[in-house]
Amino acid sequence: MSPESKADKHARALEILRRLEGAYPGADCALHWKDPFQLLVATILSAQTSDEQVNKITPDLFRRYPNPAALAAASQAEVEGAIRSIGLFRNKAKNLRLMSAQLCEEFGGEVPQTMEQLTALAGVARKTANVLLGTAFGIPSGIVVDTHVHRLAIRMGLCKRTERYPEKVEKELMPLFPQDRWVFVGHALILHGRQVCIARAPQCDTCPLSDVCPKRI
Ligand code: SF4
Repeated sequence: MSPESKADKHARALEILRRLEGAYPGADCALHWKDPFQLLVATILSAQTSDEQVNKITPDLFRRYPNPAALAAASQAEVEGAIRSIGLFRNKAKNLRLMSAQLCEEFGGEVPQTMEQLTALAGVARKTANVLLGTAFGIPSGIVVDTHVHRLAIRMGLCKRTERYPEKVEKELMPLFPQDRWVFVGHALILHGRQVCIARAPQCDTCPLSDVCPKRI
């Protein structure tokens, strides 16, 4: 089979987008949050942990620490106690306290709205910054590449089969989709990865993308 041309790949990506829009019209972040600070805390907690697990503990966490000043003032032991059921809780507690102190000292207690400022915060890498900018502020800074999006990009032939780094996957995905749909693409691919293109059991027979996907499984 001859390699797919750039133009064909682009056209196929747009068709994938059209189908995702039909299948997941309201695709959104599954984390529960009411303001950018809560989304930032929840996203930091969600690393290597399911959104469901995070949503179980955040109501109590946000009641105890409703703003950056409260979380920055809490002791390491207190924060660890509040998030103990979450993976990597010691490291995450440390990052949450540091990040909250940075927000208070450098940004007047507000969550900043640029990639550069966000990724300078403790515990915040590009993926978390993309979640914040896209979901809390409506700024399409990039495409969120989590474990689902990474797997789907490979299976759908939208990035190299051997690509190991999420940031490189993101670089390959961005030019394939219109920038004003980047936030949706991230949310929709995550949902598709959870519901249909499941890691161990992809449902190719019933998948709405079946005829536009090379199924590199
Ligand atoms: S056709 Fe199969 S591999 Fe392709 S997106 Fe659907 S479930 Fe995943």
